[in-house]
Order: sequence, then C-alpha cells, then structure tokens
Amino acid sequence: MLRLKDLSKVYATGDRALTDVSLTVEPGQVVGLIGPSGAGKSTLIRCINRLVEPTSGQVYLGDMDITGLSRGGLRRARRRIGMIFQEYALVERLTVMENVLSGRLGYVGFWRSFFRKFPPASIENAYRLLDRVGLSDHVNKRADALSGGQRQRVGIARALEQDPDLLLIDEPTASLDPKTSRQIMRLIVEICDERGLPAIINIHDVALAQQFVRRVIGLQSGRVVFDGSPDELTADV
Ligand code: ADP
Ligand code: ADP
Repeated sequence: MLRLKDLSKVYATGDRALTDVSLTVEPGQVVGLIGPSGAGKSTLIRCINRLVEPTSGQVYLGDMDITGLSRGGLRRARRRIGMIFQEYALVERLTVMENVLSGRLGYVGFWRSFFRKFPPASIENAYRLLDRVGLSDHVNKRADALSGGQRQRVGIARALEQDPDLLLIDEPTASLDPKTSRQIMRLIVEICDERGLPAIINIHDVALAQQFVRRVIGLQSGRVVFDGSPDELTADV
C-alpha cells in the first residue's frame, strides 16, 4: 500500500508544484492522475521515489517512510518501485531479454549482459514476464528493431523483473497510437490486478482513464481537486 501525507513541493525557482497532497493507494489499485499541463502530475510521481525531493510531507510504502530514508536506504527502496516511462528508456543496442534483465541489476547488469552471465533462474523469470506481456516471439530482437507498443511491453516486463511493490508510470501511452494505447493500458491494469500491485499512472488522456481505471485523481495547480470514479468526472476537471 502507498500513502502520501501532506506532500508539498516548491522548486528552487519558487514554482509551487504540489500543495498538501494526501492520498492512499490500495494493493491492486490503479490510480490515474489527470489534470492540465503544469498541474503537478509528473512532480507527484517523481516525489514518490524522490527523483524530485519533496519540500514537506511523507511518502509511506507499506510501513516504510521513504521521505525519511538515507541515501543507501533510498537505493534499496527504489528497487521496490518499478518505473515505466513515456519514452521507454530502453538500451537500444541490447536485446529485449537483455533489457529486461538489466533493469534490476542496473549498471552491473548492463555490463554482465555482454558476457551473458545471468543466473538461469533470472532468465527463466524474464521469459515468463516476456510471455505475459506478449513478447515471447521477440526475446532476442534488439530494442531498436521494435515498434512503440512492443517497446512499452519491454518497459513493463523490465519494471516487473524487479518484483516491485509499487509501479510508477509516467504517460505510458503518450507516444503511441490510440489502439496500441488501449492495449498497453489494458495490460497494465490486468497485471496490477493479478499481482495485487498498487500503481499511479500519469494519464494524459481522460478518455483512456475513463475506459481503464476505476479511480482518478484530478490535480489542478498542485492540489487534489477530484478523487473518485472517472464516471463522475465533469467537463471542468
Ligand atoms: P509536461 O507538461 O509533459 O509535464 P513540462 O513541459 O511541464 O512537461 O516539463 C518538461 C520537463 O521540464 C520536466 O522534466 C520538468 O521537470 C521540467 N520543467 C518544467 N517546468 C520547469 C521550470 N519552470 N523550470 C525548470 N524545469 C521545468
Ligand atoms: P504536469 O506533469 O502536470 O504537467 P509538472 O509536475 O511537470 O506538471 O509541473 C508542475 C509545476 O512545477 C509547473 O508549474 C512547472 O513549471 C513546475 N516545474 C516542474 N518541474 C520543474 C523544475 N524542474 N524546476 C522548476 N519548476 C518545475
């Protein structure tokens, strides 16, 4: 479970990006963040794993206060938080399999992949994940040979490879066509449900939110102005 308590962010420039945001996300629940550009959606997502340092407030993942962690503790905590990005952030000249395996192992994994020294159990696990995201026929393709939708499937498998307790997903479909966007959203929601994973998704598209998530949080000028079923959304949120 993820809990944010009175989270605020004022950037060094004086821009007030978040003001007293409090919310809880239950296991298996996928929350869609919506709101106009500049509302604070990216800042909120980045404050959770402290890619952006919150100015005040707390982030709890289970019993752990992420905001109170030292540098080493934060490094360990980030291994429990899977991230999925708009631009996929794949290593272009590595294969699909290598991209998935190098997610958890990071820099070391990246170099190890040149020597193919991954433990068999990790490789089996990666196969299972690639099968789940529909890429079992593309395991040995290089990332730069994939379509956008396939790249995002790799991104999802890579995030799952670290066996996360939380997924943070920033505009996962912003670079994809409408049909592929729907496939990717459906996959994310199904996987979170299967695994009981809580997730926060910055969705740029209200129609997608309405189709795929049961709870949306609307941000405006850094404040929560809506929290509920997407069916209750009115045109002005
Ligand atoms: P989006 O609307 O998709 O969130 P933005 O244009 O707001 O994109 O931001 C793009 C990038 O620029 C982000 O990494 C954000 O952190 C950064 N950024 C946005 N506003 C500012 C600003 N006023 N000063 C410095 N960096 C900013
Ligand atoms: P959204 O993702 O909803 O478009 P952001 O979180 O990117 O919103 O931005 C929220 C506010 O914070 C905006 O006013 C933006 O200009 C500002 N901002 C974002 N990133 C930075 C940054 N790195 N430095 C300064 N201001 C920023």
